[in-house]
Amino acid sequence: MASTSARYPVITPGKTIGILGGGQLGRMFAIAARRMGYRVHALDPAPDGPTGQVADVEWSAPYDDIDTARKLAQAVDVVTFEFENIPYETLQAVAEIVPVHPAPLVLDTTRHRLREKIFLSTHGFPVAPFRAVSNVDELSQAVVALGTPAVLKTATFGYDGKGQSKLGSAADAPAAWSALTRALGGQMGVLEAWVPFTRELSVVVARSITGQICCFDVAENLHTNHILDLTVVPARISQATRKAATDLAVSIARSLDVCGVLAVELFHVDDGTPEGRLIVNELAPRPHNSGHFSLDACLTSQFEQQLRAVCHLPLGDAQLLRPAAMANLLGDLWAEPGTPSSAEPDWAAALSDPSVTLHLYGKTEARPGRKMGHLTALSDTPESALAKVLAARARLAGSRPR
Ligand code: AMP
Repeated sequence: MASTSARYPVITPGKTIGILGGGQLGRMFAIAARRMGYRVHALDPAPDGPTGQVADVEWSAPYDDIDTARKLAQAVDVVTFEFENIPYETLQAVAEIVPVHPAPLVLDTTRHRLREKIFLSTHGFPVAPFRAVSNVDELSQAVVALGTPAVLKTATFGYDGKGQSKLGSAADAPAAWSALTRALGGQMGVLEAWVPFTRELSVVVARSITGQICCFDVAENLHTNHILDLTVVPARISQATRKAATDLAVSIARSLDVCGVLAVELFHVDDGTPEGRLIVNELAPRPHNSGHFSLDACLTSQFEQQLRAVCHLPLGDAQLLRPAAMANLLGDLWAEPGTPSSAEPDWAAALSDPSVTLHLYGKTEARPGRKMGHLTALSDTPESALAKVLAARARLAGSRPR
């Protein structure tokens, strides 16, 4: 039998990595890759994107331009992705030429909310009760079956709460259904029972092709308007809950047979037991916003971990070196909607605390709700890291009203 290293030869520094998607996740991945001596090609429909700005080569073409995707594949040694809605046909065409990690099948399962929930529930992982709905009558019946409140989500293309509606009764079904079809043109929805969680957690886990597994510390996440706002690490939970969350993430990564990084978003629910219960909200087979703390607070970041996994290198040390808090910087922080990013927040004021770092994604136009960058603060406790990052973000606004 061939040895592991013969079957999965290391893609060594100096070789070229292709990344499908051109946003901030690709940018931070490309920076990690270039730091380790790799070359990077990025595919992004828009030129001069956050990833393209730091890649060696940016291929500007729509994601369904299979010819361009094939040309990129021929120019690189391995491909990964940072954007979940790459058409399956594009991924398949690329995978016929060069290895793609995580495998296209993993992406196909996790980017479709219904397929993901069916995968999780059939493998015995805890999810909120759900029903597939494809018209308003099915939605009304599902509301009655699951009870209220409930959340209607699109099966595809949903992120940051886009296309979601909360239903208080079956009478809300027609309005929720038309909002779903209007927002995203979706014909398939998933109705989920409302989860009365006490906190939201996430675990970023990396897995190599040979099954080596490494988890980052459990993160505690706070959302505003369904968009991640703040992450605090370590999460303020018991050791037993930490272990349960980590074990769950590891089991899911194994069941999905992921090679790369997987983010597992969890609800922590107080069910009267001392430890409470964990419910899986969603999965993302890529680095995740809630893992950005790892850039400053760990020896190996989630982006380097992804790089190591897809290049068949040993995974790095993901241990948290210091408590940390991350605050997202949305376009709302800039003066006016749609203003150029030169109408800038007060960066010097934010960085007056030397324990705060700034990451900007190179987006040229600030829009409300658009992720433009993030701040991270390190401190002795999660609470003081959170206080520092919040104070730094408040200083960004200076005296301007927000
Ligand atoms: P999602 O896009 O599914 O991650 O949802 C975005 C956010 O909406 C989550 O992080 C939660 O804050 C909230 N949310 C989503 N689904 C539910 C649910 N079933 N029950 C309670 N809150 C939810």
